[in-house]
Amino acid sequence: MKNRKQKNGLLYGKYIRLVMLAIFLLPVSLSSGLYAKSEKGSNGPSEWFKVAKNTYVFRYKFHFTLFVATDKGVVAFDPLSNEAAELYVKAIRAAVPDVKLRAIVYTHWHTDHSTGAKVLRREFGNNVPIIGHENTYKTLKEEDNADVPLPTKTVTNSGLMLKDTNNPIELKYLGYAHTNSMLIAFLPKQKLVFAVDFVNHDSMGWRDLPGVDIDELILMQKRVMALDFNTITFGHGRPGGREVVVRQIAYYQALLNEAKKAVSKKLSEDQAAKSIVLNKYKNWENYDNWFTLNVRGAYRFEKEKSDKGK
Ligand SMILES: [Zn+2]
Repeated sequence: MKNRKQKNGLLYGKYIRLVMLAIFLLPVSLSSGLYAKSEKGSNGPSEWFKVAKNTYVFRYKFHFTLFVATDKGVVAFDPLSNEAAELYVKAIRAAVPDVKLRAIVYTHWHTDHSTGAKVLRREFGNNVPIIGHENTYKTLKEEDNADVPLPTKTVTNSGLMLKDTNNPIELKYLGYAHTNSMLIAFLPKQKLVFAVDFVNHDSMGWRDLPGVDIDELILMQKRVMALDFNTITFGHGRPGGREVVVRQIAYYQALLNEAKKAVSKKLSEDQAAKSIVLNKYKNWENYDNWFTLNVRGAYRFEKEKSDKGK
């Protein structure tokens, strides 16, 4: 039997796919000609750019990923989708001549990040290992999606060091707030972190934060801050510095504080959704669409804690 958290995770995955489907329906041409034009611009459907020594960001629409040219070959994170992966291949080849793919790494099992490895393997070799958390393996095996090949090497909560003379990459598990399968990448030489979905660049959380333990989310963000990095790249949004994570922590703390106050004042969820305003975040991504939903999620989270007497 699946526990509640896993069920929530699966449900969340289905939500994500619906949302992504809606986004893919936007009338954007994906011809390689358009890619070539937009390759260095930030407005086209895809682009890639260098973010640190031997380290590159690839974007496809609203999703970002990372690839690193280590001494032993390129390590390519989340291929995003089959369509994205076709352009990802071109970006990797353009950035790293004579490329050999050392490994593909899934940050977590959500298929809007993990799909596309088939395309990378078709281009770079069917034996390229796929690395993911053991819970990514378990969930993807249950999902049984032909477009998302299973990890060939699994990682426990202890993480994994991809050893390399000049570009070592540490895969770390920092907590369960966004599935129980999330790995972040820490590049100690580049002082860079790649973190997906549980922390974003000046953006609201996704909708009403379904299944998210918000206390754990803040703890995960604080665990990122404990790492010795100067640059962070995301699954959504442009790269930034440490201050971006500080701002995310402050946002979720403010959100929870307001929700806690509303619960202790015995406001209903609707009353809380109407009365809570955090003006400081009005310019953040998705504020108009998702702020009220974030409040509702935070209210339910605090209400459940209060009902349990925590
Ligand atoms: Zn996700």
